[in-house]
Amino acid sequence: MKNNIELISIGTELLSGQTLNTHAQTLGLVLTKIGLNLSRDTTIPDGIEIIQSAVREAFERTDIVVVSGGLGSTSDDITRDALAELFDRKIVISPEALEVMQKRYATRGREVSPAAERQAQILEGAETLVNSVGAAPGQRFFPKLGKTLFILPGPPKEFLAVLNDHIVPWLQKTFPHAEPLEERILITQGIGECDIVTRLNEACFKPLELSIGFYPGAGKVEIRISAEKEKLANLDVVESTLRALLQEWLIR
Ligand code: ATP
Ligand code: MG
Repeated sequence: MKNNIELISIGTELLSGQTLNTHAQTLGLVLTKIGLNLSRDTTIPDGIEIIQSAVREAFERTDIVVVSGGLGSTSDDITRDALAELFDRKIVISPEALEVMQKRYATRGREVSPAAERQAQILEGAETLVNSVGAAPGQRFFPKLGKTLFILPGPPKEFLAVLNDHIVPWLQKTFPHAEPLEERILITQGIGECDIVTRLNEACFKPLELSIGFYPGAGKVEIRISAEKEKLANLDVVESTLRALLQEWLIR
């Protein structure tokens, strides 16, 4: 399928329950807004082999992969090493990222230590995506023709900054015709999800190839119908049919 993007969230703490993985939501919201699709989020611990196999497998399914986390200066940050080995590239210092770090350190009257310098390292041949709120930059790397790998820092504010400053503009240029899905939202109260389905089946309701999501919670069910712009007519039909069938329970 076209325009699918996969995320690989790296961090042992994301799996131990210590830290909530917020990147899937952040990226999902941003991509949906510009008409692209986050097709999968894989969360894995900091481990060389598991990073390599996750990236390899993601590229078998899709052309654009975003990897996040493990770019810092501590010994558990091994994302760069894993990717350098996988793609047979050296690790080099990004002069651009180092300069940003030096300037930031200088305002505090300090010099960049060798340990901190590690954060300015990128894969040879990767493009530096300057991180406006932290040290480790993002990177854009083309492992082979038609494949793009984005490597992003883990801290949520930094992930979002690199995403908005660099990835979104690149995606908009790369997919100029991508359009967000049109969405309609209905909310029912006092009828359970299963009873909604029964009622729709009894009425031989047809979704007309649209995607319909049911999200129950707190005695209510939110129904989201979405469609590409060219299926707008179907969207109108499906929405009004659902509204008619569920009329007595609708609160929105
Ligand atoms: P740093 O230079 O800060 O070490 P880094 O790129 O190495 O950055 P990590 O070490 O993986 O990133 O994580 C830094 C911080 O960001 C940690 O507190 C981590 O728990 C948090 N973090 C990493 N990934 C995620 C994620 N997917 N969702 C939420 N928080 C995350
Ligand atoms: Mg780190």
